[in-house]
Amino acid sequence: MSEKDLLSDAESQEVQTGNSTEDNQDHKDEYEDICYICHRPESKAGKMIKIPNNICICTDCMQKTFDSMNQAGFPLGDMSNFNPANMPNMPGISFPGMPNISMINLSDLQGMMPQNQKIKKKKPKEEKEAKPVLDIKAIPAPHKIKASLDEYVVGQERAKKVMSVAVYNHYKRVAADTLDGIEIEKSNMLMIGPTGSGKTYLVKTLAKLLDVPLAIADATSLTEAGYIGDDIESVVTKLLAAADNDVEKAEHGIIFIDEIDKIAKKKNTHQRDVSGESVQQGMLKLLEGAQIEVPVGANSKNAMVPLATVNTKDILFICGGAFPDLEEIIKERLNKHSSMGFRADLKDKYDKEENLLRRVTVEDIRKYGMIPEFLGRLPVIFTLDSLTEDMMVEILKEPKNAIIKQYQKLLAMDEVKLEFEEDALRAIAKKAREKDVGARALRSILEEFMLDIMYEIPKDDNIGKVTITKAYIENTGGPIITMRGYQALPG
Ligand code: ADP
Repeated sequence: MSEKDLLSDAESQEVQTGNSTEDNQDHKDEYEDICYICHRPESKAGKMIKIPNNICICTDCMQKTFDSMNQAGFPLGDMSNFNPANMPNMPGISFPGMPNISMINLSDLQGMMPQNQKIKKKKPKEEKEAKPVLDIKAIPAPHKIKASLDEYVVGQERAKKVMSVAVYNHYKRVAADTLDGIEIEKSNMLMIGPTGSGKTYLVKTLAKLLDVPLAIADATSLTEAGYIGDDIESVVTKLLAAADNDVEKAEHGIIFIDEIDKIAKKKNTHQRDVSGESVQQGMLKLLEGAQIEVPVGANSKNAMVPLATVNTKDILFICGGAFPDLEEIIKERLNKHSSMGFRADLKDKYDKEENLLRRVTVEDIRKYGMIPEFLGRLPVIFTLDSLTEDMMVEILKEPKNAIIKQYQKLLAMDEVKLEFEEDALRAIAKKAREKDVGARALRSILEEFMLDIMYEIPKDDNIGKVTITKAYIENTGGPIITMRGYQALPG
């Protein structure tokens, strides 16, 4: 019997056993079967042989079963003798020539047998009802992408602009055909900026706006395959999980690799460099585009886990890092330049320059320890500025989901109005700047002061308004509590 026959048999078996509604059927079409024995999906292992109780077995495994039984002395022949359609009321799997032998007691499998032993097929999905803010199929223009980012991310104007153009080009590239022989280069990005300046936040916001899956990985945890830690391909596994195991969706997703500066080549070291240069080497293929076999629904490959193949060609890679001490390299280069002229500048000319990072060149980053091949695959390089006090104040109150808006919403549910005096916000920003972890400190500082308020206010139904003052933030006074229908009372 040819494979084709086997397929149609398997298909007819499905029709015979199928008693699901039309709806269910539609839904079923989006998923593919997984072999019960080797756990490979249909797209890898070929058409499945379906036996009752929703069990699927691939032809390879079925053949192996026959082979091993042959070796054990059962006169079974090969697959050509096998026709699942001829096994109507079997209590287990019975075999031609051995009518009374039951291999598996199917009743034992009931309950543990997965209706859901299926993964999502590589097939375009129907449009979701909730439309994303920006539709990648319609490829939003850069100014629209930036305008959407503006609603969430404060400052970082240049970064937002560069990113918007890069994303625009990326999805154009994905949509474009290459029939004319012109292939648009991938717009993978490298973003350099101090801790807490919004690198991760920018990427998260972008992925949310575009409604594409996002995987965030930390370069410090990545190692070459075979070493302890996550191997490089694990980032694709994460992305597939973020895409609900939908391979096609994952292939249009974004992978953000944070702390990329931690895999810089170490200077003057004679030790074998496991975590640095070799990880960069290992990432090259991934960044450019490779077929990666990833386990579905698990973190590591093993015999029990089905595999899916994900092509990284259209995945947008964004690498980010703080690159501490990069400024020293920039300064050194700039000083060298200026001291060559007739008017040698003062050596500390650049010491006080804010956002010196903006002057970075590829050469500086190479000197830092990133290998040229790696940088070559991240053609879009841009920097983020460190946050000023003004930016911090704005971050507290302006973005669509600003932290103080969140607290206001929480208290509004208790019908209490929450206000912040302008200099209270400034005092919070000042405190946050001292911690030197960017905007990340804002939330923790605010949380500290809001804890008592969130605890005390619901106790008293008469409280109508709370005003956070500078004195409260500086621990020299309290917030102003206003009772409903009364004048403000200092707290
Ligand atoms: P990093 O640059 O270290 O990746 P993050 O992006 O994680 O920093 O920033 C930490 C938090 O600070 C974010 O979750 C976000 O709430 C806030 N934040 C940082 N920068 C900005 C910004 N420019 N605009 C708005 N919020 C920001």
